[in-house]
Amino acid sequence: MLNQDVTGVRPVDIHAHFFPQAYLDVLAEEGPRFNVEYRAAEEGFYIKTDARFQGPLPYRVVDLKKRIADMDAQGTAVQAMSLTGPMAYWGDEEVSHKLTRAWNDAASAAHVQYPTRLLGLLTLPMLFPDRAIDELNRASKLPGIRGVYMGTNINHRDLDDPLFEPIFARIEALDLPIFLHPLQVVGGQRTAPFYLSNMLSFPFDTAIAACHLIFGGVLDRHPKLQFSLPHGGGVLLMLMGRIDHGSAVRPEIEKLRLPRPPSKYLQLEIRHGVRDRRSGRRAHHDRERLLPRHGVRKARAFSGSGKYNERATKDDLRRQCRTNPQALTKQQALAAVPPRIGLRRVPSE
Ligand SMILES: [Zn+2]
Repeated sequence: MLNQDVTGVRPVDIHAHFFPQAYLDVLAEEGPRFNVEYRAAEEGFYIKTDARFQGPLPYRVVDLKKRIADMDAQGTAVQAMSLTGPMAYWGDEEVSHKLTRAWNDAASAAHVQYPTRLLGLLTLPMLFPDRAIDELNRASKLPGIRGVYMGTNINHRDLDDPLFEPIFARIEALDLPIFLHPLQVVGGQRTAPFYLSNMLSFPFDTAIAACHLIFGGVLDRHPKLQFSLPHGGGVLLMLMGRIDHGSAVRPEIEKLRLPRPPSKYLQLEIRHGVRDRRSGRRAHHDRERLLPRHGVRKARAFSGSGKYNERATKDDLRRQCRTNPQALTKQQALAAVPPRIGLRRVPSE
């Protein structure tokens, strides 16, 4: 039975990672040629790349039945599933495309199996634009695909790199929202200890990605593109005043002739904290109180379990929705438009 709050709100989790077995099979088969290792063990599975060592990852990110059971326990009505590291940017042209086809087909099949509960944010072989556009054209027609997922940088290339321009043009034409996620992040060895790579490097990389989209002109060239920033928008909101001031006084930015201050590109902020049922810790912080200060006009409540289907309590999710007047309606949840949020160009005032 689907969980539904007394207000009629049904939480949608837009940050929910999924490793289909078909993707892991390609990774296991093709990975060694590219220094990528996959190992299955009793306690979970491990993935090792040049960028990161992950594991043990729980098998419930593979198993759809367990996922649905977790969603029921958590009170999540719908998940818009996405891939996570090591993503699909480490192979050659053929392997990258093969990885993305495997993931996209499996996400769509998951939707067909659970049409009211699971959706997919497709993944692309971003380093090979012709392939990426082919896959975009193919996978966007699959049942249950509602958006695009990509890194905050692609193998250290920022998102305003001309390589990605035709891909963004096609995503814009298809009117699909984009959910960003960190992978190869700033900080290097300095943020390797103490889990700093996640706590600090992830939110900084997200802010860097947002600034490249703004200053690099991606949002102006593609006015319909919409980006969702994970992890509460990273440190972007916290630094927005500094970024606005810098763009007003620095010649490096003045010559770009931006039509508006950077903060005006922010439209909606979405992420709300969810609490891990077992540890009791918050997975994210609610930044709603920061919004008015930074010119963000509207907020809509989407929730994200953040990582590998972590559990939030029903009370947490209900509270999030109640505190936000723009919370999802039942109809929105069913249509499950994922992230109409985060960062996009807005008309001049
Ligand atoms: Zn994540």
